[in-house]
Amino acid sequence: MSNTRTAEYRAFDANTLIGYLAGIEVVAEILGESQWTANEVGDGNVNQVFIVEPAPGSEGTPVVVKQALPYLRVAGDDWPLTRERMRHEIAALERYGDLVPGRAPAVIHTAPEMSLVVMEYLAAHEVMRGPLMAGRTFPQFAAHVGTFVAETCFATSDLALSGPAKKTLVVERSNPELCELQEDFVFTNPFMESEENEWNPALDELVARVRADGALQVASAEAKRVYLTNTEALLHGDLHTGSLMVTNTDTRVIDPEFAFFGPIGYDLGTLFANLVINRLSHRVHTPDAAERAEMEAWLDGCLVDTWSTFARVFDERWQRHEGDGATPAAYWDFDGGPQAFAHRRAGYLARVLVDSASQGGCEMLRRLMGIVTVPELGAITDNDLRAEIETDLAAIARRWLLDAEQITRPEDLLVAVHEVIG
Ligand code: ADP
Ligand code: MG
Repeated sequence: MSNTRTAEYRAFDANTLIGYLAGIEVVAEILGESQWTANEVGDGNVNQVFIVEPAPGSEGTPVVVKQALPYLRVAGDDWPLTRERMRHEIAALERYGDLVPGRAPAVIHTAPEMSLVVMEYLAAHEVMRGPLMAGRTFPQFAAHVGTFVAETCFATSDLALSGPAKKTLVVERSNPELCELQEDFVFTNPFMESEENEWNPALDELVARVRADGALQVASAEAKRVYLTNTEALLHGDLHTGSLMVTNTDTRVIDPEFAFFGPIGYDLGTLFANLVINRLSHRVHTPDAAERAEMEAWLDGCLVDTWSTFARVFDERWQRHEGDGATPAAYWDFDGGPQAFAHRRAGYLARVLVDSASQGGCEMLRRLMGIVTVPELGAITDNDLRAEIETDLAAIARRWLLDAEQITRPEDLLVAVHEVIG
């Protein structure tokens, strides 16, 4: 009794998925006429991801199918999580296709009733975190990701949209359940007693010290307020190095299920924090001193270049923007207007950098003492060695949070890193 319009949601497995896809013309055409196979590859914690391939040697192109389950995949069905998240992911992927063509996997087919998207299979790409841990560098990454954040954030900000258009979009893209996960797991629980927190046993004292650190707790609470209340642009919402797939020459943004209107500094700060975590982890992962120094220098440069690209592209978009938006050209039509406009743009970007520091500080801390760590730290088997790195990370995070207002150039973020590690 089902047709596509009234079809009821069901969770697919590798077999049932093939039967379902056979009925979708655009997908069947891409996969070709052989016997297809589907394999679940999700190293992801949240959803199921399948690679569907034509028979070896036959015509046809593989695709990726991602489906949201009504619960959090790693936790099982006792952790319900709305499938609404796939509606947000689909909308974000489609928007990326319009705003930054080629920066995300192409969307081939969407089935909102199945909480499912069929997308381009990135056969040559790797999730960035692994190769970064292995000491590989990506020369165009900073330019790609900086441009991605600038283009997607400018176009969805009040600077580019009319008041009513922006407000309509904020409502449409409101993503309360996924935001609540970040509120709890990034900004709240790590800073207090909470049963799902986990940390390196050699870090007990440090965790107690963080929680007793009044200034740090206050700064973290303020960062959470900014996350909750600042709706300046439509963010990716989880922009760490596990949400980026790369080759030597290409960068793709995946997994935008957390997309919501928030502070731009949350996306940038998350990315910067993960670059710094990776940087410090090379003390263990790259024992050769010369190789390590090269990797550290690349990561530092990557952070600065990502910011510089973001700031340049965002500023250019703003200068060239015509039509709706908060600051029409006529605003600056006075003696000294162009200078005042330039000053306003610089002031706006300075605020985004301050937010990046404090949001990034929370991201660093939660990866040490919250529910979700990162492979860079998890892979270190010597707890004392791991604790040394984590202690430095906590000190850097503290600087980013407490000195955020003094951070006026991206290099200032690195000054904190260099001063802490000595
Ligand atoms: P989750 O929301 O469960 O974290 P992700 O979107 O991060 O899921 O995808 C999980 C994994 O599946 C990724 O880490 C990556 O290895 C793989 N993957 C996702 N999308 C693609 C794609 N378009 N092409 C190739 N691999 C992909
Ligand atoms: Mg995800």
